[in-house]
Amino acid sequence: MSSSTSDVLVVGGGIIGLVTAWRAAQRGFATAVLDPAPGGGAAQVAAGMLAAVTELHYGEHTLLGLNLESARRYPDFVAELTELTGHDVGYRRSGTLAVALDADDRAQLRELHALQRQSGLASEWLSGRECRRLEPLLAPGVRGGLRVDGDHQIDPRRLVAALVAACERAGVAFHRDGAERLTVSAGRATGVRTRAGTTLTARQVVLAAGSLSGRLAGVPAEVLPPVRPVKGQVLRLTVPRRYAPFLTRTVRAVVRGSQVYLVPRENGELVVGATSEELGWDTTVTAGGVYELLRDAHELVPGITELPLAETRAGLRPCSPDNAPLLGPTGLDGLLLATGHHRNGVLLAPVTGDALAHALATGELPAEARPFTPRRFRAAALSEQSA
Ligand SMILES: Cc1cc2nc3c(=O)[nH]c(=O)nc-3n(C[C@H](O)[C@H](O)[C@H](O)COP(=O)(O)OP(=O)(O)OC[C@H]3O[C@@H](n4cnc5c(N)ncnc54)[C@H](O)[C@@H]3O)c2cc1C
Repeated sequence: MSSSTSDVLVVGGGIIGLVTAWRAAQRGFATAVLDPAPGGGAAQVAAGMLAAVTELHYGEHTLLGLNLESARRYPDFVAELTELTGHDVGYRRSGTLAVALDADDRAQLRELHALQRQSGLASEWLSGRECRRLEPLLAPGVRGGLRVDGDHQIDPRRLVAALVAACERAGVAFHRDGAERLTVSAGRATGVRTRAGTTLTARQVVLAAGSLSGRLAGVPAEVLPPVRPVKGQVLRLTVPRRYAPFLTRTVRAVVRGSQVYLVPRENGELVVGATSEELGWDTTVTAGGVYELLRDAHELVPGITELPLAETRAGLRPCSPDNAPLLGPTGLDGLLLATGHHRNGVLLAPVTGDALAHALATGELPAEARPFTPRRFRAAALSEQSA
């Protein structure tokens, strides 16, 4: 049986595991990533909206702070990655327009606007006509909308490719295999045993296995992350040159209670998403999912039915009970978590990488990440038991 050792072993090489490994290696840790297919995962499906302001929800103010902080770090993060790797990651600062198609949607959007303003966020209310002036292909029935110039986008597939390249340059070792079991000795995580039977040891293990993070054998029950998969189906259309520019910014709406968004990339790709389904680890693309997305997107921008349909895909968002990530040290020495990023994993990549590198170096989370300690769920469970 072979074995290998490192300072930091990251289990899972999705966007979150990769950014963690890159930042850890930059701090001087001998770092390894274990994943059968690094650079895969939900980022291959995600739209890449960096939507701290338009994704604001009641009761998620703490998460808003982290989302905004990560959005603030994005320009430097992209500049550093691009300079290091030469990869263009499709970062586009073109803003977002959230629109309403009927009176109910408009009332909801007005509430979101009020919440954004109370939270000190920049967004501007526009009439239907003003919305169409910005995006002439919007349906004539659009009743109004919110212009959010600060919510940008990135191409997540390009971003993970750049992160793999950055990791390689920083000396990160990749083990193309899966973790079968966490190994624990004398009350401390010591590494993993892989499916191929290799033993990988490390001083610190970061569990970043996305929606599968709660399923790794050997992790004591009291530190197992409460993460579940939330399925999302997405379509990719192509905008032929003769139709460009089809849309100049991300356009989104709530249609019959479901979110729909259209994210136009500079290379002509138009991403239409996304369903949100609680179906376990199922990633089947269904006729119903595709139908609903096309139906809702067509109500918003009727011209989409002219565009070639290039791809249909489903992925799994790693979701925690409070929709916020679990970051940093756990109750088991040597085991840290970087998971539960749900619908904001692409947005939260920069702040997550920085927070985990800090925690690996100091044992503590930086101030902005402290509310996201995994220990919050243990504390909540204990207080329920004693109540
Ligand atoms: C439809 C959809 C749309 C989205 N849109 C956006 C968006 O617009 N903006 C945004 O910010 N976010 C978006 N997201 C969310 C974002 O994609 C996720 O939050 C993020 O990709 C999660 O990354 P991760 O690395 O934690 O997990 P994953 O991407 O799931 O990666 C986990 C990795 O761990 C590996 N792994 C699992 N088990 C093991 C094991 N036992 N051993 C070794 N490796 C293992 C897997 O192979 C995988 O590579 C979207 C997600 C979906 C599904």
